[in-house]
Amino acid sequence: MNSTSTFSELQLRIKASCKNCSHVRVCAIFRAVAPLINSFEEARPFEPEDLAQICREYKPNEVTLR
Ligand code: SF4
Repeated sequence: MNSTSTFSELQLRIKASCKNCSHVRVCAIFRAVAPLINSFEEARPFEPEDLAQICREYKPNEVTLR
């Protein structure tokens, strides 16, 4: 990663993940969905943090981008 990358360019390089979302600690959706998905021991349809890939509220934490 070079030092001239813009914030938007950096955002595009990081895979969207709830783990990197600034809302994760207060997110009602993540809190509701993660335990349900984690209750499937096998054949999970997706990992809970992958919700970020379709979430309109995803906001990468700036600390993640450093
Ligand atoms: S990406 Fe969406 S679902 Fe995931 S923590 Fe952020 S706001 Fe919640």
